[in-house]
Amino acid sequence: MAAVSFRQVSKVFEDGTRALVDFSLDVNDGEFAVFVGPSGCGKTTALRVLAGLEEPTEGEVIIGDQVVNGWTPQRRNVAMVFQNYALYPHMTVRANLEFPLRMAKMAREEMRRRVARAADVLDLAGLLERRPAELSGGQRQRVAMGRAIVRDPRVFLMDEPLSNLDARLRTQIRADIAALQRRFGTTTIYVTHDQVEAMTLGDRVVVMNAGLVQQVDAPRRLYERPANTFVAGFVGSPGMNLFRTRLVSSTEGLSVHLGDIRFPLPPEILAERPQLAAHAGGQVLAGLRPEAFSRADEGAWRIDVGVEALEALGHETLVYFRPAWPVENPLAARLPGRPGMEKEGQLALGIDPSSFYFFELDGSAIY
Ligand code: ADP
Ligand code: MG
Repeated sequence: MAAVSFRQVSKVFEDGTRALVDFSLDVNDGEFAVFVGPSGCGKTTALRVLAGLEEPTEGEVIIGDQVVNGWTPQRRNVAMVFQNYALYPHMTVRANLEFPLRMAKMAREEMRRRVARAADVLDLAGLLERRPAELSGGQRQRVAMGRAIVRDPRVFLMDEPLSNLDARLRTQIRADIAALQRRFGTTTIYVTHDQVEAMTLGDRVVVMNAGLVQQVDAPRRLYERPANTFVAGFVGSPGMNLFRTRLVSSTEGLSVHLGDIRFPLPPEILAERPQLAAHAGGQVLAGLRPEAFSRADEGAWRIDVGVEALEALGHETLVYFRPAWPVENPLAARLPGRPGMEKEGQLALGIDPSSFYFFELDGSAIY
């Protein structure tokens, strides 16, 4: 087990693609960190740089207390589990599990012991003589995990290991992975493009975009205190609604302009966001999560909106609407149950004024 650090790592590929930009991060010994971000944001590259499959263009990679730049993957003793499990089809499960140990020329006794332990932990004991073609997707995935576990690595890297599984199995194996990580306490970096997976798995989540770290925080903090509009929009489904507005200062304090109506912001919002007062009179981006809306009779403020689309999910309904002020895209509201409304038409919504977020026009959050 070991802590892991990236120190101002950049990776520029030969064709000029910048996959990582000044990437800095410390993962603690024994921690479960999740890298999340849209496809192409540099997640796999970050893992490959750590595993020694790519050399960084700039910066240092540290495992334990040693700079490992230039070390071979074997010497780093990092195990990686990929999305396509890449099991050897002609080998039994046992042979697949033994393979990395044979490569390391491990003594037979020790090899048997490690395979037996991994098979026990992963519930594979009854499957050891089967070949991959005779396994379900979930079982194959467990063998791939087992092949990483037997090596007793200092760090586990998992690159979207569940993407090929159906939703139900994903949820189940996700719980297994979390339990396994707690049991072994091995430093783990788990990569996913799925924000739900990130929010449910990580001690800390690293949100990435375009090769840059956007925010590193506990899942709950990402939701409650996003650092910028990218994180605000990425976390949550649908993500936070964002639109341009103006903050106006008056005798009532600071107000937000929504169409023709001025709503005074409650004192607790201003207390929690001391920087906000400096934006009086200026343009800002306002953010409201879909859960900030309610039926009009429940919210403190009321707005009239034009409904554009409904998604009735049974326990809740997502309402896509245009408010009375200009927005680029329709906004989303999450209302409980089936609000019993027409597909199109007017609707009155309530807004909880304490649920407002504000961002500079460049996207950084104002707190
Ligand atoms: P992610 O895993 O987040 O989807 P990747 O790390 O695979 O993203 O890729 C980051 C960026 O680097 C993408 O733009 C991708 O096309 C590019 N990239 C990845 N590998 C190479 C390579 N070997 N040569 C050139 N560009 C690459
Ligand atoms: Mg990837």
